[in-house]
Amino acid sequence: MKWEDNVRKVVPYVAGEQPNKANMIKLNTNECPYPPAPGVRKLAEEMDYDKLRLYPDTDSTILVKELADYYGVKPSQVFVGVGSDDVLATAFVTFFDSGRPILFPDITYSFYDVWADLYRIPYIKCALKDDWHLDVEAFKQPNGGVIFPNPNAPTGLFEELSTVEEILEANRDVVVIVDEAYVDFGGESCLPLLEKYDNLLVVQTFSKSRSMAGLRIGFCIGSEKMIKYLNDVKFSINSYTMNMPSQVMAVEAVRDDAYFKSVTAKIIATRERVKKEMEELGFTFPDSKTNFIFASHKTVPAKEIFEALREQDIYVRFWNKERINNCLRITIGTDEEMDTMLGFLRTYLKDR
Ligand code: PMP
Repeated sequence: MKWEDNVRKVVPYVAGEQPNKANMIKLNTNECPYPPAPGVRKLAEEMDYDKLRLYPDTDSTILVKELADYYGVKPSQVFVGVGSDDVLATAFVTFFDSGRPILFPDITYSFYDVWADLYRIPYIKCALKDDWHLDVEAFKQPNGGVIFPNPNAPTGLFEELSTVEEILEANRDVVVIVDEAYVDFGGESCLPLLEKYDNLLVVQTFSKSRSMAGLRIGFCIGSEKMIKYLNDVKFSINSYTMNMPSQVMAVEAVRDDAYFKSVTAKIIATRERVKKEMEELGFTFPDSKTNFIFASHKTVPAKEIFEALREQDIYVRFWNKERINNCLRITIGTDEEMDTMLGFLRTYLKDR
Protein backbone atom coordinates (compact mmCIF):
# COMPACT_ATOMS: atom_id res chain seq x y z
CA MET A 1 0.00 0.00 0.00
CA LYS A 2 1.28 3.44 -0.81
CA TRP A 3 1.19 6.12 1.88
CA GLU A 4 -0.98 8.25 -0.34
CA ASP A 5 -3.80 5.71 -0.06
CA ASN A 6 -4.07 6.72 3.60
CA VAL A 7 -4.26 10.44 3.07
CA ARG A 8 -7.48 12.28 4.00
CA LYS A 9 -8.05 13.90 0.65
CA VAL A 10 -10.15 17.03 0.55
CA VAL A 11 -10.88 19.87 -1.84
CA PRO A 12 -10.09 22.97 0.22
CA TYR A 13 -12.07 26.18 0.54
CA VAL A 14 -10.65 29.02 -1.56
CA ALA A 15 -10.56 32.32 0.30
CA GLY A 16 -10.80 35.65 -1.53
CA GLU A 17 -7.41 36.88 -2.68
CA GLN A 18 -5.38 39.22 -0.47
CA PRO A 19 -3.42 41.32 -2.99
CA ASN A 20 -0.90 43.72 -1.57
CA LYS A 21 -0.99 46.80 -3.74
CA ALA A 22 -0.57 50.36 -2.60
CA ASN A 23 -3.68 52.01 -4.01
CA MET A 24 -6.01 49.08 -4.47
CA ILE A 25 -9.66 49.17 -3.47
CA LYS A 26 -10.34 45.90 -1.72
CA LEU A 27 -14.00 44.96 -1.81
CA ASN A 28 -13.61 41.18 -2.10
CA THR A 29 -13.59 39.66 1.39
CA ASN A 30 -16.17 41.67 3.35
CA GLU A 31 -13.61 43.27 5.59
CA CYS A 32 -14.50 46.50 7.37
CA PRO A 33 -12.99 49.61 5.74
CA TYR A 34 -12.65 51.39 9.10
CA PRO A 35 -10.03 50.64 11.77
CA PRO A 36 -10.83 48.82 15.02
CA ALA A 37 -11.94 50.86 18.06
CA PRO A 38 -9.34 53.44 19.20
CA GLY A 39 -8.78 51.57 22.47
CA VAL A 40 -7.65 48.53 20.49
CA ARG A 41 -4.90 50.60 18.90
CA LYS A 42 -3.82 51.86 22.30
CA LEU A 43 -3.56 48.29 23.58
CA ALA A 44 -1.52 47.27 20.55
CA GLU A 45 0.87 50.18 21.13
CA GLU A 46 1.22 49.50 24.83
CA MET A 47 1.42 45.70 24.58
CA ASP A 48 3.75 44.14 27.14
CA TYR A 49 5.95 42.12 24.80
CA ASP A 50 7.39 40.12 27.69
CA LYS A 51 3.97 38.50 28.09
CA LEU A 52 4.42 36.84 24.71
CA ARG A 53 6.70 34.31 26.44
CA LEU A 54 3.67 32.81 28.11
CA TYR A 55 0.90 30.63 26.77
CA PRO A 56 -2.44 32.42 26.55
CA ASP A 57 -5.39 31.65 28.84
CA THR A 58 -6.86 28.43 27.40
CA ASP A 59 -10.38 29.50 28.41
CA SER A 60 -10.14 33.10 27.12
CA THR A 61 -11.80 33.94 30.44
CA ILE A 62 -11.84 37.74 30.14
CA LEU A 63 -13.26 37.69 26.63
CA VAL A 64 -15.86 35.04 27.41
CA LYS A 65 -17.02 37.10 30.39
CA GLU A 66 -17.15 40.33 28.38
CA LEU A 67 -19.23 38.70 25.65
CA ALA A 68 -21.51 37.04 28.21
CA ASP A 69 -22.17 40.42 29.88
CA TYR A 70 -22.72 42.15 26.54
CA TYR A 71 -25.20 39.60 25.24
CA GLY A 72 -26.86 38.94 28.63
CA VAL A 73 -25.97 35.25 28.93
CA LYS A 74 -23.83 33.17 31.32
CA PRO A 75 -20.08 32.77 30.60
CA SER A 76 -20.75 29.02 30.43
CA GLN A 77 -22.87 29.72 27.34
CA VAL A 78 -20.03 31.33 25.35
CA PHE A 79 -17.29 29.65 23.30
CA VAL A 80 -14.59 31.61 21.44
CA GLY A 81 -12.34 30.60 18.57
CA VAL A 82 -9.86 31.75 15.95
CA GLY A 83 -12.38 33.45 13.71
CA SER A 84 -15.87 32.09 13.30
CA ASP A 85 -14.38 29.62 10.79
CA ASP A 86 -12.67 27.92 13.73
CA VAL A 87 -15.87 28.00 15.79
CA LEU A 88 -17.90 26.60 12.87
CA ALA A 89 -15.37 23.85 12.09
CA THR A 90 -15.39 22.81 15.75
CA ALA A 91 -19.20 22.87 15.78
CA PHE A 92 -19.38 20.69 12.65
CA VAL A 93 -17.14 18.01 14.13
CA THR A 94 -18.88 18.20 17.53
CA PHE A 95 -22.55 18.28 16.60
CA PHE A 96 -22.89 16.67 13.18
CA ASP A 97 -21.95 13.09 14.01
CA SER A 98 -25.19 11.20 13.38
CA GLY A 99 -24.44 9.65 9.98
CA ARG A 100 -27.61 11.37 8.69
CA PRO A 101 -27.25 14.21 6.18
CA ILE A 102 -27.07 17.75 7.46
CA LEU A 103 -29.01 20.47 5.65
CA PHE A 104 -27.86 23.84 4.37
CA PRO A 105 -28.88 26.16 1.52
CA ASP A 106 -27.53 25.46 -1.98
CA ILE A 107 -26.34 29.04 -2.30
CA THR A 108 -24.51 29.86 0.90
CA TYR A 109 -21.13 30.15 2.59
CA SER A 110 -19.00 27.80 0.51
CA PHE A 111 -17.03 26.55 3.51
CA TYR A 112 -19.96 24.41 4.76
CA ASP A 113 -19.57 21.65 2.20
CA VAL A 114 -15.78 21.73 2.66
CA TRP A 115 -16.10 21.02 6.41
CA ALA A 116 -18.76 18.41 5.75
CA ASP A 117 -16.47 16.64 3.28
CA LEU A 118 -13.48 16.94 5.61
CA TYR A 119 -15.35 15.36 8.52
CA ARG A 120 -17.20 12.86 6.29
CA ILE A 121 -20.58 14.33 7.17
CA PRO A 122 -23.22 13.62 4.52
CA TYR A 123 -25.23 16.65 3.46
CA ILE A 124 -28.17 17.83 1.38
CA LYS A 125 -28.19 21.28 -0.18
CA CYS A 126 -31.65 22.83 0.08
CA ALA A 127 -32.35 24.95 -3.01
CA LEU A 128 -33.17 28.57 -2.27
CA LYS A 129 -36.49 29.79 -3.65
CA ASP A 130 -36.49 31.80 -6.88
CA ASP A 131 -36.41 35.01 -4.84
CA TRP A 132 -33.32 33.58 -3.06
CA HIS A 133 -34.98 33.36 0.33
CA LEU A 134 -34.73 30.10 2.29
CA ASP A 135 -37.24 27.42 1.38
CA VAL A 136 -38.39 26.56 4.89
CA GLU A 137 -40.20 23.39 3.77
CA ALA A 138 -36.88 21.92 2.57
CA PHE A 139 -35.59 22.20 6.14
CA LYS A 140 -38.36 19.93 7.40
CA GLN A 141 -36.99 16.70 5.92
CA PRO A 142 -35.21 14.13 8.15
CA ASN A 143 -31.64 15.24 8.86
CA GLY A 144 -28.62 15.11 11.17
CA GLY A 145 -28.39 18.86 11.74
CA VAL A 146 -29.03 22.22 10.13
CA ILE A 147 -26.83 25.23 9.39
CA PHE A 148 -27.52 28.48 7.56
CA PRO A 149 -26.23 32.03 7.74
CA ASN A 150 -28.67 34.81 8.62
CA PRO A 151 -28.36 37.07 6.73
CA ASN A 152 -27.33 34.54 4.11
CA ALA A 153 -24.08 34.94 2.18
CA PRO A 154 -23.49 35.72 -0.58
CA THR A 155 -27.11 36.75 -1.25
CA GLY A 156 -27.20 39.22 1.66
CA LEU A 157 -30.83 38.36 2.40
CA PHE A 158 -32.11 38.37 5.97
CA GLU A 159 -34.75 35.90 7.18
CA GLU A 160 -37.23 37.09 9.80
CA LEU A 161 -36.93 35.47 13.22
CA SER A 162 -40.32 33.82 12.67
CA THR A 163 -38.72 31.92 9.77
CA VAL A 164 -35.73 30.94 11.92
CA GLU A 165 -38.13 29.76 14.61
CA GLU A 166 -40.13 27.71 12.14
CA ILE A 167 -36.93 25.88 11.18
CA LEU A 168 -36.04 25.39 14.85
CA GLU A 169 -39.50 24.10 15.63
CA ALA A 170 -39.19 21.48 12.87
CA ASN A 171 -35.74 20.40 14.07
CA ARG A 172 -35.90 19.98 17.83
CA ASP A 173 -33.87 16.74 17.83
CA VAL A 174 -30.77 18.01 16.02
CA VAL A 175 -28.43 20.95 16.43
CA VAL A 176 -29.37 24.04 14.44
CA ILE A 177 -26.52 26.48 13.81
CA VAL A 178 -27.33 30.03 12.77
CA ASP A 179 -24.24 31.75 11.37
CA GLU A 180 -24.72 35.46 12.11
CA ALA A 181 -21.45 36.71 10.60
CA TYR A 182 -23.30 39.68 9.05
CA VAL A 183 -26.13 40.26 11.53
CA ASP A 184 -24.82 43.62 12.79
CA PHE A 185 -25.57 45.39 9.50
CA GLY A 186 -29.33 45.63 9.88
CA GLY A 187 -30.44 42.07 10.65
CA GLU A 188 -31.78 40.85 13.97
CA SER A 189 -29.99 38.24 16.07
CA CYS A 190 -31.87 35.09 17.01
CA LEU A 191 -30.14 35.02 20.42
CA PRO A 192 -33.48 35.53 22.25
CA LEU A 193 -34.62 32.16 20.85
CA LEU A 194 -31.99 30.47 23.04
CA GLU A 195 -34.45 30.65 25.93
CA LYS A 196 -36.74 28.29 24.08
CA TYR A 197 -34.32 26.08 22.12
CA ASP A 198 -31.38 24.37 23.81
CA ASN A 199 -30.30 22.92 20.43
CA LEU A 200 -29.63 26.36 18.89
CA LEU A 201 -26.08 27.62 18.39
CA VAL A 202 -25.58 31.24 17.32
CA VAL A 203 -22.21 32.04 15.74
CA GLN A 204 -20.78 35.53 15.27
CA THR A 205 -17.46 37.12 14.32
CA PHE A 206 -15.27 40.16 14.99
CA SER A 207 -14.06 40.10 11.36
CA LYS A 208 -16.73 42.31 9.81
CA SER A 209 -18.61 44.67 12.12
CA ARG A 210 -15.76 44.95 14.64
CA SER A 211 -13.00 45.53 12.06
CA MET A 212 -10.73 42.79 13.36
CA ALA A 213 -10.44 40.21 10.57
CA GLY A 214 -6.67 40.25 10.96
CA LEU A 215 -6.79 39.04 14.55
CA ARG A 216 -9.12 36.08 13.85
CA ILE A 217 -11.77 36.26 16.56
CA GLY A 218 -15.10 34.46 16.47
CA PHE A 219 -17.54 33.17 19.07
CA CYS A 220 -20.75 31.33 19.58
CA ILE A 221 -23.50 31.33 22.16
CA GLY A 222 -25.67 28.35 23.01
CA SER A 223 -26.94 26.25 25.90
CA GLU A 224 -24.42 25.38 28.62
CA LYS A 225 -24.54 21.76 27.53
CA MET A 226 -23.65 22.59 23.94
CA ILE A 227 -20.76 24.83 25.00
CA LYS A 228 -19.41 22.06 27.22
CA TYR A 229 -19.43 19.64 24.27
CA LEU A 230 -17.66 22.21 22.09
CA ASN A 231 -14.98 22.72 24.74
CA ASP A 232 -14.48 18.97 25.08
CA VAL A 233 -13.67 18.78 21.35
CA LYS A 234 -11.58 21.94 21.35
CA PHE A 235 -9.48 20.68 24.27
CA SER A 236 -9.01 17.41 22.38
CA ILE A 237 -7.40 19.23 19.46
CA ASN A 238 -5.65 22.39 20.64
CA SER A 239 -5.96 23.99 24.09
CA TYR A 240 -4.37 27.28 23.08
CA THR A 241 -6.51 28.46 20.21
CA MET A 242 -6.91 32.17 20.75
CA ASN A 243 -3.70 34.12 21.28
CA MET A 244 -3.22 36.57 24.13
CA PRO A 245 -3.24 39.86 22.13
CA SER A 246 -6.50 38.83 20.44
CA GLN A 247 -8.17 38.06 23.77
CA VAL A 248 -7.20 41.43 25.25
CA MET A 249 -8.03 43.50 22.18
CA ALA A 250 -11.34 41.78 21.58
CA VAL A 251 -12.45 42.76 25.11
CA GLU A 252 -11.68 46.40 24.32
CA ALA A 253 -13.62 46.20 21.04
CA VAL A 254 -16.71 44.90 22.87
CA ARG A 255 -16.44 47.63 25.53
CA ASP A 256 -16.50 50.45 22.97
CA ASP A 257 -20.10 49.96 21.96
CA ALA A 258 -20.50 53.54 20.70
CA TYR A 259 -17.69 53.06 18.20
CA PHE A 260 -19.12 49.71 17.07
CA LYS A 261 -22.53 51.30 16.52
CA SER A 262 -21.09 54.25 14.62
CA VAL A 263 -19.10 52.01 12.27
CA THR A 264 -22.04 49.73 11.47
CA ALA A 265 -24.33 52.74 10.97
CA LYS A 266 -21.84 54.29 8.53
CA ILE A 267 -21.62 51.08 6.51
CA ILE A 268 -25.40 50.72 6.41
CA ALA A 269 -25.76 54.32 5.19
CA THR A 270 -23.15 53.80 2.47
CA ARG A 271 -24.78 50.52 1.44
CA GLU A 272 -28.20 52.11 1.00
CA ARG A 273 -26.77 54.94 -1.08
CA VAL A 274 -24.72 52.54 -3.23
CA LYS A 275 -27.84 50.41 -3.82
CA LYS A 276 -29.60 53.40 -5.38
CA GLU A 277 -26.65 54.29 -7.58
CA MET A 278 -26.15 50.72 -8.72
CA GLU A 279 -29.79 50.45 -9.64
CA GLU A 280 -29.39 53.53 -11.81
CA LEU A 281 -26.43 51.82 -13.51
CA GLY A 282 -28.59 48.83 -14.45
CA PHE A 283 -27.70 46.41 -11.66
CA THR A 284 -30.19 44.18 -9.87
CA PHE A 285 -29.58 42.56 -6.48
CA PRO A 286 -31.34 41.09 -3.47
CA ASP A 287 -32.05 43.65 -0.75
CA SER A 288 -28.88 43.16 1.28
CA LYS A 289 -28.81 43.51 5.07
CA THR A 290 -25.05 42.89 5.16
CA ASN A 291 -21.83 44.74 4.36
CA PHE A 292 -21.94 43.57 0.74
CA ILE A 293 -24.20 43.65 -2.31
CA PHE A 294 -24.64 40.62 -4.57
CA ALA A 295 -25.25 42.24 -7.93
CA SER A 296 -25.90 41.25 -11.54
CA HIS A 297 -25.94 43.67 -14.43
CA LYS A 298 -28.91 43.59 -16.78
CA THR A 299 -26.74 43.30 -19.91
CA VAL A 300 -23.03 42.98 -19.13
CA PRO A 301 -21.78 39.59 -17.81
CA ALA A 302 -20.42 39.63 -14.25
CA LYS A 303 -17.11 38.08 -15.29
CA GLU A 304 -16.41 40.94 -17.67
CA ILE A 305 -17.16 43.58 -15.06
CA PHE A 306 -15.07 41.65 -12.51
CA GLU A 307 -12.08 41.67 -14.87
CA ALA A 308 -12.53 45.32 -15.84
CA LEU A 309 -12.64 46.32 -12.16
CA ARG A 310 -9.59 44.18 -11.43
CA GLU A 311 -7.61 46.05 -14.05
CA GLN A 312 -8.33 49.20 -12.09
CA ASP A 313 -7.09 47.45 -8.91
CA ILE A 314 -10.66 47.32 -7.65
CA TYR A 315 -11.15 43.83 -6.25
CA VAL A 316 -14.62 42.31 -5.88
CA ARG A 317 -15.62 38.62 -5.62
CA PHE A 318 -16.83 36.47 -8.49
CA TRP A 319 -17.60 32.74 -8.47
CA ASN A 320 -17.69 30.74 -11.66
CA LYS A 321 -20.40 28.51 -10.18
CA GLU A 322 -23.78 27.41 -11.40
CA ARG A 323 -26.66 29.78 -10.45
CA ILE A 324 -24.35 32.56 -9.27
CA ASN A 325 -21.93 33.00 -12.20
CA ASN A 326 -23.56 36.23 -13.26
CA CYS A 327 -23.20 37.89 -9.86
CA LEU A 328 -20.54 39.99 -8.22
CA ARG A 329 -20.24 40.23 -4.47
CA ILE A 330 -19.17 43.75 -3.70
CA THR A 331 -18.13 44.62 -0.16
CA ILE A 332 -19.20 48.02 1.14
CA GLY A 333 -16.07 50.11 1.58
CA THR A 334 -15.71 53.77 2.53
CA ASP A 335 -17.84 56.33 0.68
CA GLU A 336 -14.74 57.40 -1.20
CA GLU A 337 -13.91 53.86 -2.30
CA MET A 338 -17.46 53.25 -3.44
CA ASP A 339 -17.48 56.52 -5.36
CA THR A 340 -14.31 55.52 -7.20
CA MET A 341 -15.87 52.18 -8.11
CA LEU A 342 -19.17 53.73 -9.17
CA GLY A 343 -17.36 56.42 -11.17
CA PHE A 344 -15.45 53.77 -13.09
CA LEU A 345 -18.57 51.68 -13.68
CA ARG A 346 -20.48 54.69 -14.95
CA THR A 347 -17.91 55.24 -17.72
CA TYR A 348 -17.30 51.57 -18.39
CA LEU A 349 -20.97 50.67 -18.75
CA LYS A 350 -21.73 53.68 -20.94
CA ASP A 351 -19.32 52.38 -23.57
CA ARG A 352 -20.90 48.93 -23.56
N1 PMP B 1 -19.60 32.81 8.01
C1 PMP B 1 -19.84 33.46 6.89
C2 PMP B 1 -21.20 33.42 6.31
C3 PMP B 1 -18.82 34.18 6.25
O1 PMP B 1 -19.04 34.83 5.09
C4 PMP B 1 -17.54 34.23 6.83
C5 PMP B 1 -16.43 35.03 6.19
N2 PMP B 1 -15.74 34.41 5.18
C6 PMP B 1 -17.33 33.49 8.00
C7 PMP B 1 -18.38 32.81 8.57
C8 PMP B 1 -15.98 33.38 8.63
O2 PMP B 1 -15.46 34.57 9.09
P1 PMP B 1 -14.31 34.63 10.15
O3 PMP B 1 -13.62 33.28 10.20
O4 PMP B 1 -13.42 35.70 9.68
O5 PMP B 1 -14.96 34.93 11.45
